[in-house]
Amino acid sequence: MDPGTARRKLERASAFHWVHAVVVAMSLVLTFFAWHYSQSEHEARIKARFDREADQVLELVKERMQKYEEALWGGVALIQTFGGDVDFDQWRRYSQSIDLATRYPGINGIGVIHAVSESELPGYLADQRQLRADYRIHPAHEGDEYYPISYIIPVQGNEQAVGLDMAHETNRFTAAKLARDSGKAQITGPITLVQDSGKTPGFLFYAPFYEEAGATLDDRRDKFNGMVYAPFVVKRLLAGTLGKDKRHVGVRLLDGSNVLYDEHNPREADYDADPLFTRSATVSFYGRDWTFDIRSAKSFRDAASNSQPWTILVGGIAIDCLVIGLFIMISRRSQQALNYADSMTHQLEANAVELEASQHQLAERAEQLETSNAELEQFAYVASHDLQEPLRKISAYAQLLQEESEDRIDEEHRDYLRVVIDGAQRLKTLVTDLMRFSRITTRGEALKAINTAECLDCALENLELAIEESGANITADELPTCLADQSQLTLLFQNLVSNAIKYRAQRSPNIHISCRDLGSKSEFCVQDNGIGIDPQFYDRIFQIFQRLHNRREYSGTGIGLALSKRIVERCGGEIWLESVPGQGSKFFFTLTRVARQDNLKHDLARAHEPAIATAY
Ligand code: ADP
Repeated sequence: MDPGTARRKLERASAFHWVHAVVVAMSLVLTFFAWHYSQSEHEARIKARFDREADQVLELVKERMQKYEEALWGGVALIQTFGGDVDFDQWRRYSQSIDLATRYPGINGIGVIHAVSESELPGYLADQRQLRADYRIHPAHEGDEYYPISYIIPVQGNEQAVGLDMAHETNRFTAAKLARDSGKAQITGPITLVQDSGKTPGFLFYAPFYEEAGATLDDRRDKFNGMVYAPFVVKRLLAGTLGKDKRHVGVRLLDGSNVLYDEHNPREADYDADPLFTRSATVSFYGRDWTFDIRSAKSFRDAASNSQPWTILVGGIAIDCLVIGLFIMISRRSQQALNYADSMTHQLEANAVELEASQHQLAERAEQLETSNAELEQFAYVASHDLQEPLRKISAYAQLLQEESEDRIDEEHRDYLRVVIDGAQRLKTLVTDLMRFSRITTRGEALKAINTAECLDCALENLELAIEESGANITADELPTCLADQSQLTLLFQNLVSNAIKYRAQRSPNIHISCRDLGSKSEFCVQDNGIGIDPQFYDRIFQIFQRLHNRREYSGTGIGLALSKRIVERCGGEIWLESVPGQGSKFFFTLTRVARQDNLKHDLARAHEPAIATAY
């Protein structure tokens, strides 16, 4: 990636981008949506629950009333079985058989009311008083019809009800007449039961019985014998029907505008002043319209409470905050990275400028160095060349002087003359070596495929005298064809072999020239059994004028190995040595191998130097 693109990417990352804003906004919308969805789901769920509980209340009351009705009709059936009337004993047995207390919780008792006309009254009273001497119909009223309660089971607790005349009071009487006329079960409007010391609202439940079944209203009125009835205290009825501990709704029951039962007041432990749900249902019950006002209670609110929507909302908002924080952090980090990248870029630019400047300087220096090197070499060549003539003259005239004045001068002056001749001779050697040295790069021939064995032969020929004098034994392996300058390679062999002879030990010199194939290179080795060289001097001996011995021990100028190094490097090779002092030395150098004749062209093209064809 190029720096511009990378920078643009970083810049984009560092800005609080619109994409970030969209992500956050979408996340918020999703959070609110999830919250709203969860909330409405929850509301629907608890509404359904409330409806279920409210339905249950209605169903339970309905069911219970039907059960009571059945008990009443059971009584009626019994009376019909006994020909239209029963005595107290028969009624008691029936009541006991239906097990009121257990099977009909909430019922106060079950009794028989007889329809007694004015004319029948004495006979009725006489009958009743046979059973209970103190029996009387009460309270007194103006009417000519009497609907007194003849028996009620259980007796205990219902004593006040015995003899109570239903005709004395409108609600009781109206419902009784309706039951009589309709032949159906009927309940009264709200009344206070005589046996209820709490004086709470109650009602009576009637089921009429007849002498014989009548099809018409007149028949029913004519044959009407009485009613089986059950008194109810609404509070007890509902407590028995709707266990408070099992529901989470409060109930208020109204008959028209009269409150029969009311749980909607703060005295109720489970009362909720601000109910979550309310429902009002008017149900027709046995001739009365009962209105059920049902409200959710406190326990409903508690049971319905659900933290899920709020958890979603709070959790979602918290995540959104984290995301915003993360974006801010990312953009800050990116900004830092951008600043860092900027500073790095500036630094790099500055470095590049510096580098360019130093490269420029370096190139200038290299150029200067090259010029001064060339000048120096030129100077060395010219100097050594120009020195040769006067040197030759000094040497020649000194020798002439020595020859002609030999008899005339004393020994001391003869010694002086020998020093002059010797000095001139050494200077001559030095100048020759120096000239050779400076010529390696400036006056060499073009590199070409050279038969290295020929060069070695030539070198050995040049060294013939030294070899003879030293009695050296020189052997050589088969040598390859390599890229080199013929006369320089001859000089190289000459230097190395002459050193091997010169730095010989007490034993007669044994010298071997070998060569190893290294693929594209050939590794030559000139091995001797001379005095050897301490490894600490390995580098030093390749420097010009560096010698390890003085002139009296071994003659020399200290140029030979420096010259050899130059020759090898010019051919693209390397030179080094291995030596064990006292045992001998191995001088190695490499040259580019010319494997076949047809490769020659190619190898020549790869030669390290352009050809300098100047001869000297
Ligand atoms: P010169 O022989 O003229 O002294 P060179 O450059 O040829 O100069 O050699 C440098 C030094 O390296 C010599 O003075 C000598 O001490 C050491 N040297 C070179 N060749 C050998 C050799 N084959 N064995 C031992 N020492 C050597």
